[in-house]
Amino acid sequence: MKVNVSDIIRINGASMQVDFIEEPSEKELAHGCVLDDKIRFSGTLTNELGTLHLEGRLQLNYGCECFRCLKPASKGLDIKISEGFIGSDKAEQSDLYPFEGKILDTDKALRDNIILSLPMKNLCAEECKGLCEKCGANLNEMQCGCVDDTIDPRLEGLNKFFE
Ligand SMILES: [Zn+2]
Ligand SMILES: [Zn+2]
Repeated sequence: MKVNVSDIIRINGASMQVDFIEEPSEKELAHGCVLDDKIRFSGTLTNELGTLHLEGRLQLNYGCECFRCLKPASKGLDIKISEGFIGSDKAEQSDLYPFEGKILDTDKALRDNIILSLPMKNLCAEECKGLCEKCGANLNEMQCGCVDDTIDPRLEGLNKFFE
């Protein structure tokens, strides 16, 4: 979202409300995840000695593949945002996000926050049973009947004892 900050840029302590729902310019995230729909942001932008602080809440939905059963899953994220922006002429000596003139673009900062908040392993459901290692059946949908004959190494000694 491009925000016109001309109302607060010259006044230390000035603050403005920033609320938007928008179609993100780039939908691909990371780990094969893709944004499902519009992203929703609600917060404030405050001028603190020329640095503009964006505080607020970002909500979104994304689609991904379940790590265990490989089925498409839809997930939501609710992220607390706290980022600083500084005029591009001063940005080089800082690790804040730059903005040009009176226009502040939140896209890069919000996208970085989304990618950092994505879990490494997405599951369709916490209790997803995954796929059978032998026949590949989706164990959420069926009981395949394969027998698990791998013996827990801790029990192997016990088996020998009873022979
Ligand atoms: Zn799953
Ligand atoms: Zn099986």
